[in-house]
Amino acid sequence: MKKTHTSYQGFRTSIQLLWLTAFIVLLVQGQPQLWLAGFIVTGAAASFLFGRVFCGWICPMGTLLRFQTWIFRTLKIPRRKLQKSAAGDWMRWIMLLVFLGILVFSRQRGMQIPLLPGMTAFAVLVSCFFHESFWHRKLCPFGALLSVSSRRAWKNIHIHKEGCMRCGKCQRVCPSESIDTDSDKLRYNTNKECLVCRSCIGACPTGTIAYGTEAGSDSGNST
Ligand code: SF4
Ligand code: SF4
Repeated sequence: MKKTHTSYQGFRTSIQLLWLTAFIVLLVQGQPQLWLAGFIVTGAAASFLFGRVFCGWICPMGTLLRFQTWIFRTLKIPRRKLQKSAAGDWMRWIMLLVFLGILVFSRQRGMQIPLLPGMTAFAVLVSCFFHESFWHRKLCPFGALLSVSSRRAWKNIHIHKEGCMRCGKCQRVCPSESIDTDSDKLRYNTNKECLVCRSCIGACPTGTIAYGTEAGSDSGNST
């Protein structure tokens, strides 16, 4: 199971690197608007069906933050982990307004403002000091939109309570702190913050986490 999970994450890494390359090529060619159009098609539309796959598989910021987390973990560099309630969700909506404001302003003035590279650099900078979940949950303007559209996605990550032994391993690997604990110390996924990275599926020792529709989730062991 571990070996299959490792290959699956290797597949995910390849997909992320491909999209990161496409992102860089579009920026170099001065066509960031194509990337934004891609976000609407692949990100926003797919999130209604498959959750925030854009965040976990396509977004260049998600890819860079994943790599950054790997470096910080390997070098054992500590970062602050905020309490989930410490900062409000409103921050990412403000970020979205600022993002759209700058976009409209630059269009009207015919200016070339490097908005996407600037935001990517800001995400990496913030994540030098805070666990990457801070960006995913509180600051990312794209995440703000997808947290609404993915809330009732057709497919998502499900944790079956019968198999949970309350070890918390799934929570420790989750990049967006999407997994919460209920009053019986059983874990459940909040869905709207889940990046569909599937790291929790590989971490769970009982194979009780699966991706799919609630009624017929794919087996966790098959990933
Ligand atoms: S670890 Fe699991 S719950 Fe957390 S973002 Fe990845 S798939 Fe979602
Ligand atoms: S890793 Fe699996 S068994 Fe452990 S708390 Fe999470 S769902 Fe429960």
